[in-house]
Order: sequence, then structure tokens, then C-alpha cells
Amino acid sequence: MNITKDKVVDLDYKLTVHNEVIDQSEPGEPLVYLHGHSNIIPGREKALEGKTVGDSMQVTVTPEEGYGTRDPDAIEDLSREDFDDDIEIGSTYYAQAEDGSVIPFTVIGVDGDSVKVGFNPPLAGETLHFDVKVLGVRDATAEELDHGHAH
Ligand code: ZN
Repeated sequence: MNITKDKVVDLDYKLTVHNEVIDQSEPGEPLVYLHGHSNIIPGREKALEGKTVGDSMQVTVTPEEGYGTRDPDAIEDLSREDFDDDIEIGSTYYAQAEDGSVIPFTVIGVDGDSVKVGFNPPLAGETLHFDVKVLGVRDATAEELDHGHAH
């Protein structure tokens, strides 16, 4: 069975950025996703199209097909009062948007009463290198298709 839209795919993967492994699936705990529903970044989904169990590949994903380019304007100064006492530079915090969605941001620096934060995803602007191995492909259930993700 080949990977096409509406298939559920199990895969092992390793993500390398600047020759450093920054994320990988644990042995026996593959990533499971529903193909064709933007569950994973576009560049990786495209590379898996048509592949089958046992296929291994190396995929290089540009920022445009990964986590986006880095937006230099996505930086804001927030008030020190909005934070706990122990702000850690580099830590990720979460803000709530007006529509209720949660927006992650990273603390870049603290200057007196103001905290400089960035809203770029941590991997924005980075070229991503994936080692991927397909472990399983099956048809999605009606419920999975309804939810738009694998169970
Ligand atoms: Zn569900």
C-alpha cells in the first residue's frame, strides 16, 4: 500500500538542523499521522507521497516548506509585570489570542520593566534535514477522517 491522501502512516524520523539532532521518534514509538491533512509540515508530507512500508529517505525541507521564514517584525516588548518572577531567557511562554487560540512565544531578553519576546516559531528560517523510515501504511477509519488526524 502506498502513501496517498487519507492513509494513516507510521514512521520513524530524525530531525537534524545545523548537524545537530534536535528531535527524533523514540524506538517503538513511531510518529503516526494522517496523510494529506496538513498534520505534518508540507515539505515532509510531499516527500512521503507514494512511498511504502520499508522505504527510507533523507528529506531536506526549506523554511518555506517547513516552519516558515523568520519574520523580523514578530518581536514585541511586554511588561515585566505580566510575567512570574523567574523569567528565563529562551523559554517558551503562551499567550491567549482573542479567538481563544494559544500563541507560543519565546523570551529574547529582559530590560528593566520590559520583556522582549519573539513570536517566530523556534525553527522558523531553518533548513530542516529529516531521516525518515516508513513503518506502516493503512487506510484511515471514518472517525479519523472526520477528526482530520490519526488515532
Ligand atoms: Zn480524533
